[in-house]
Order: sequence, then structure tokens, then C-alpha cells
Amino acid sequence: MKAPSFAYARPGTLAEAFDLLERHGAGARILAGGQSLIPSLNMRLSSPELLVDITGLAGLSRIESFSKGLRIGALVTHAQIERSPEVKRHAPLLAQAAPHIAHPAIRNRGTLGGSLALADPAAEYPACALALNATFILLSKKGERKVKAGEFFKGLFETDLKSAEILAAAEFPSADKSMFVELARRLGDYAIIGLAATQAASQKRFVFLSAGATPVLAVNASKASSLREAREALGQDLDPPADLYHSSATKLHLARVLLERAWNTL
Ligand code: FAD
Repeated sequence: MKAPSFAYARPGTLAEAFDLLERHGAGARILAGGQSLIPSLNMRLSSPELLVDITGLAGLSRIESFSKGLRIGALVTHAQIERSPEVKRHAPLLAQAAPHIAHPAIRNRGTLGGSLALADPAAEYPACALALNATFILLSKKGERKVKAGEFFKGLFETDLKSAEILAAAEFPSADKSMFVELARRLGDYAIIGLAATQAASQKRFVFLSAGATPVLAVNASKASSLREAREALGQDLDPPADLYHSSATKLHLARVLLERAWNTL
């Protein structure tokens, strides 16, 4: 199928982008890598009147370290995250997660900001962001807003982003240890279940993807003092929805398998 007709603008400055987004309101959609938005237009799942292509905006493509971790611009692509020495050094969890995202062609265009703003519960970065307790930088005409990952993901494909707001960057605090692991039918497929695990100052955080409407922080398992306790506690933390091939019980079993791998590695 082909997308319904739409107008297209590629602003050169943030001020121009905010003007377009405000003027067109719900009729405008931000376009970044287009790897989720364009298929959704082609399938006629949405029909915006205007696409505001933000790839010409300077300053959203940087990877910079700061005292507590790493700040990554929204336009940094999955491929750049996969290869960046800065990411490997300061946020290795993201570098481990990136190769699990789709295929090289998609990773060459898809962006960090697009993935976080889309908030697909099966996506890798939202779980990593929650595990690392990341902070998102949101910009609009009114100025800057900072939102923690824990408050950003509101529901299925639903975030705290307001209309005419652009996700500009995410700040990822460094963790002492981290591990990303997922199970998929084939490499590049969306995960059946996945886990982003971190440890900072002996506090563990286990965050599962494909386990609910948002990334799910396993609160009880994260507080457990032994693997046996953590495996048991996971039953209170997760009630994963069944998919076409796997029952909820199978997914919980697989989540425990991943938990054990991560526990033994951290
Ligand atoms: P776009 O498609 O351009 O935009 C996505 C949404 O985010 C739109 O609603 C857009 O308006 C909004 N948006 C984009 N940028 C911003 C911003 N800076 N501020 C505010 N709103 C913004 N993803 C995974 O995580 N794991 C996978 O295994 C995976 N497999 C895939 C397989 C296929 C075949 C395809 C086509 C895609 C797959 N994806 C997967 C999705 C891919 O990672 C996308 O790149 C990503 O979800 C969206 O990034 P994008 O830059 O392409 O965003």
C-alpha cells in the first residue's frame, strides 16, 4: 500500500520546527529515521497532514560524555550507537542492545529518539533507558523539560511527550555493571522476551521488554538478595501478555532463564 498524501517540511532550526509543530497541532508528525513512521503511513495506520523532518536540526546528533555518564542526541542512529567507542565505554548496555534491533539497513536510519518516542514495549532502548535510570531532555517553544525514564513511558506506544515537543537527547548515568540479553525466534526479530540489567552501588535493576505495555522494572526481583529469591519474586513482578506463539507462562519461564543469566554475570 502507499501512504496517504501529506505535506513535508525540513526545518533548519529548532525555532522553525516548533513553529510548524504548533501551527499544525495534531495534524503534524515528527519524522526522524522514518523506520516506524513510514511503514505506519504505508499501512494507513495514520494520516498526518504534515511530516516535520527533524534530521536537518544541528545539535541532535552528538554523543557526549559528562561527569555522571553519557548524553546521546535524539538523531544518533542505532548503527552509530552500536559502533561508538564512547557508548561502549560509558553505556555498554546500549552497545550490547543495538545489534538486536532489526537489521543493518534499519539500524543505519533508525534513531535513538525515534525509538524512545515511539515507546514500543518490544523495543530494546526503552528497557535500557529504564534500567539505567535515564533522563530525557524534551524541548519546545516554552523551553526545556527533563523527564526520568520511569515517568516517560505511560502505556502502550504512549509517552509523556506533549504535542509540539521534541525529544532532543537522553542522559544515561553510568552503571558499575550491565548486561543486555534477549530471546528472539531469529536474529533481528522483535524479542519474545528481553532483559536490560544493571548494577550501580550494589543496587540491581532488572527491566524486561516484551513483558507488558511498557518496559517493566521487576521491583521485587531487583531487591532480592539471592538468585532463588529473585526467580521467585519475578512471579509477582511480571504478568507477560501471551503472543501468537508463546503463552504467558512460557514467557515468564523464559524471563526467569534470562534473569538467571544476568544474575550470574552481574
Ligand atoms: P520514526 O519512524 O521517524 O518515528 C517514530 C515515531 O517517533 C513517530 O511517531 C515520530 O513522530 C516520533 N519521533 C521520532 N523522533 C522524535 C523526536 N526526536 N521527538 C519526538 N518524537 C519523535 N525497533 C526495535 O527497537 N527493535 C526491533 O527489533 C525492531 N525491528 C524492526 C524491524 C523492522 C522490519 C522495522 C521496519 C523496524 C524495526 N524497529 C525495531 C523499529 C526501528 O528501531 C525504528 O528505527 C525506531 O522504532 C524508530 O526510529 P526512527 O528514527 O525510524 O523514528
